Amino acid sequence: MRTPFVAGNWKMNKTAAAAFDFVCEIASELNAIEGIDIAVCPPFIAIPSVAKALEGTKIGVGAQNMYYEANGAYTGEISPAMLKGLCRYVILGHSERRALFGETDEGVNKKIKAALEHNLTPIVCVGESLAQNEAGETQSFVSGQVRAAFAGLSDWQAAVCVVAYEPIWAIGTGRSATAQQAGDIIRASVRDVLAEMFGHDTAQAIRIQYGGSVTEDNIADYMRQPDIDGALVGGASLKPTFIKLVRSAVV
Ligand code: PEP
Repeated sequence: MRTPFVAGNWKMNKTAAAAFDFVCEIASELNAIEGIDIAVCPPFIAIPSVAKALEGTKIGVGAQNMYYEANGAYTGEISPAMLKGLCRYVILGHSERRALFGETDEGVNKKIKAALEHNLTPIVCVGESLAQNEAGETQSFVSGQVRAAFAGLSDWQAAVCVVAYEPIWAIGTGRSATAQQAGDIIRASVRDVLAEMFGHDTAQAIRIQYGGSVTEDNIADYMRQPDIDGALVGGASLKPTFIKLVRSAVV
């Protein structure tokens, strides 16, 4: 049985002070929601204060990215060794990183391996563009991303990862995939591919989120899909109504 998991991706929003104030405002009500794992992923510089504010709660903290080397001459980068101990999760391969910062499947694979070596749980993002979707290429593209991201992982390493299927055309657009569409793609292009790679039991253990314009009003529909185990939430995780969204995810 997979425990549902909702994570908030704050992207490049909120100063460290604003992140701390916001998390203090929502922590106790979020913490009281049972039957679900919850995480917030603030910008790097807010991670220490947000983690401090969440000490003693069940709410996890995640980073939005990291580099794969442990240290060295990589100006501007943050390493897994720096995140270890500060946060539990790290979002890797978000479509904004792929599109705007040139991240490749190969780089994402290296980052996943480095995160696992440092006991961080990767939230691995995959998803097709609108053009790919309209050309009927969703399944082949997303399964290719999954194969590349998970290449060379052992069964136990794969089992601890989280996957977020996020169609790019649904991110921040208000145009979400239907629950049925998302559920079907997640089964065929993510879970079945993971089963081919790592076997049925491992694939069944991996938590797969949907992401793309998830709100408090539509989350329950996604959660009713048998292969959707939660959501990666952008815009709707920045407001106190995130509490209601997480509550509605327990169906
Ligand atoms: C995201 O940031 O990964 C995301 C899905 O954003 P939004 O919920 O705003 O579409």
